[in-house]
Formats: sequence, C-alpha cells, structure tokens
Amino acid sequence: MEINKNRSLKDLNTFGVNATTKFYTEIHNLEDIHELLEWKEKTDLPTLLLGGGSNLLFVNDYQGLAAKICLSGKEIVEADADATYISVAAGENWHNFVRWTISQGYAGLENLSLIPGTVGAAPIQNIGAYGVELADHFYSLQAINLENGDVLEFNKEQCQFGYRESFFKAYGLDKLLISSVTFSLPKKPQWKINYAGVQEKLKGLEPNAKLISDAIIELRQSKLPDPKVIGNAGSFFKNPVLNIDQWEAIKANYPDFMGYPQSKTEIKTSAAWLIDSCGWKGYRKGDAGVSEKHALVLVNYGNTTGKQLWSVAEEIIDSVSQKYGIILEPEPRRLSEN
Ligand SMILES: Cc1cc2nc3c(=O)[nH]c(=O)nc-3n(C[C@H](O)[C@H](O)[C@H](O)COP(=O)(O)OP(=O)(O)OC[C@H]3O[C@@H](n4cnc5c(N)ncnc54)[C@H](O)[C@@H]3O)c2cc1C
Repeated sequence: MEINKNRSLKDLNTFGVNATTKFYTEIHNLEDIHELLEWKEKTDLPTLLLGGGSNLLFVNDYQGLAAKICLSGKEIVEADADATYISVAAGENWHNFVRWTISQGYAGLENLSLIPGTVGAAPIQNIGAYGVELADHFYSLQAINLENGDVLEFNKEQCQFGYRESFFKAYGLDKLLISSVTFSLPKKPQWKINYAGVQEKLKGLEPNAKLISDAIIELRQSKLPDPKVIGNAGSFFKNPVLNIDQWEAIKANYPDFMGYPQSKTEIKTSAAWLIDSCGWKGYRKGDAGVSEKHALVLVNYGNTTGKQLWSVAEEIIDSVSQKYGIILEPEPRRLSEN
C-alpha cells in the first residue's frame, strides 16, 4: 500500500472542489486492507473511505488518510428458479456494472443506470432512482471491520435500508469497509416504467432491460448537469417526508405542491419544487450556484470552494424553512472538521 502525502482531492470528488488530503492511498486487494488496518493501529489519524467521490462535499482539507476503494471483479455465485446471484467488488463502477448485467441478460438494475460512483458506496445511502432502489435487488454484502479486521456478512434485514439510509450511516461511516455486494436479479423481472418521461420514451415498444436503461440514460442526461462539465454531486437535498396534516396545510395555499404517499400518515414531497418555488434555480454567487437544469443540484461553475457551496446550501435551507417551515436535509456527506 503506497501512501502519498498532501494529495489534491480535486479529481477525486465530482464537485471538483480543490481540497487536499494529508495522506492518500488506494486499496486494490486484501493485502492493502491488512496494511490499512496496521496503519490505523499505528496512528491516531482518521480514515476516509473514498469511492467515486460523487456524494461528498469537502468543506475543508482532510487531515487524515483518504483510502480510495479500487477492489475489482465480479462473479455469478448462484442461480435458482427465481433469481441469479451476482457478487461484485466494491471498487467497480456502478453504472458499468449495471450495463454489464444487462449485456449478460440479467434484469433488475436498469432503472439505476447512470448513477455515478462505485458499487461499495451504493448501499451506504441505498441509492435510488426512477422508482427503484438498491434494496429492491440487494441480497448481501461483505464488510471488514476496520477496528479489529473481522470479516462480516450482512443480509438485507441487517442493512436496515431506508430512503437514502442504511445501517452503515447509523453505525458510523469509515468504520466498516464494504468490500463486495451480492445482488439477487430476478428471472421474471417486473418493469418499473410508469415514471414520468420513461413511459413516453417507451411508447409502442415491448420493454426490456436495455431499452429501459437507454431511456433512463437519455432522461438523466437531459435533466442533470454532467459532473465532467459542471461539478456537482447530484441531488443536494433529500426529498422531505411530511406528516399528512403538515402537507395538507401547505397544499391548501399551493395547489401544485406535490406529494407521494409513503404510508397512511406520511407523504414524501419534492425538495426541487420547494427550492424552485423560493427562486433558487439558476442562482449563482461567484462560482457556486444552483443548476439551471435542476433546482436540487448545487454546482461548481469553476473554482468555487466547499465552504462557498455549503454557504449557498445554508441560504437555501434558511429560505425554504422561512417560507414553508420545512428543514431540508443535505444528501451528500459533508467533510468539514476532522
Ligand atoms: C450527477 C449525479 C447524479 C446522481 N444521482 C443519484 C441518484 O439518482 N440516486 C442516488 O441515490 N444517488 C445519486 N447520486 C449520488 C451518488 O452517485 C451516490 O450516492 C453514489 O452511491 C456515491 O458513490 P461514490 O462511490 O461516489 O461514493 P463517495 O461519494 O466516494 O462516498 C459516499 C459515502 O460512501 C462511503 N464509502 C464509499 N465507498 C465505501 C466502501 N467501499 N465501504 C464503506 N464506505 C464507503 C464514503 O465514506 C462516503 O461516506 C448522484 C451523484 C451525481 C454526481
């Protein structure tokens, strides 16, 4: 395991924020994991587990060791009457893995096409898009406890998946290194295509995984700024979940206020609508701002800092709170002090 000192993180986070990490390494195999455990025993410095950096905001420089997970490989481990089980290493690129499953004739993950990042980070916030989330086709994962080296297996129940939530967030980030994830891909897939935009793109066609994936790629490219062109981390805020009374009170004044029932008492609303209605879409202050394409996406127009981006986020939180009494919760992990 090679350790570099004072490495820039600019090319390691999709916001393209120019922070620095005091130490940097890459984890390619089991030996590197053992050396990481030894390093952790020897020093008091924190470790940051880094995937594709597409859900992180570096507000300050990082004072510990950033360890990029580069574990690679995938295999079909089992098949039964209902599903095929595929295990994939944490450092594999998520979207490439999704397209590979489709090319091999397996369905299930097509709605999650084009989400940036790695396979190992996907369970952390139970990634989701277009009516499907990782939990829908998750079978198990393997993680290494970085405090004692224990190798642990987690089944779906133990992962406690929720909306952008999992056991791993609650337990404490950077304590468990997810090394591989096993998916259960159904032999008889149920297409989820009633989402706005997808249905229109598939009109008159017999759906299959590739067609759905292609449609979703097209839709995402038309709606979301490409981080390679304008730095961003996708949705910056979670969609708030309100109780019905709170939702109805706002709806009475704003008839186009959207709501999607989550349970008998809870309604999920659109953070994008709330932000847009407060006039933030297309806002720019220096090089930090809000995408012109999507009110939920904070962007780095060039050389902004994590601090400036976070200051825009705070202004948005304040204005939505004042107008609607709803406190928006950021989705990306914010690294400010360590
Ligand atoms: C343009 C764009 C669109 C996006 N669209 C979506 C979307 O539709 N749906 C969605 O859910 N998300 C979306 N995201 C957010 C992001 O892509 C996902 O959260 C993704 O899973 C993050 O993967 P990553 O490898 O980049 O993780 P990173 O940003 O590197 O890390 C995220 C978190 O996971 C931890 N972590 C990373 N790897 C491991 C590991 N192996 N073991 C333990 N912990 C680890 C990190 O410490 C950190 O806390 C989008 C982001 C962008 C830029």
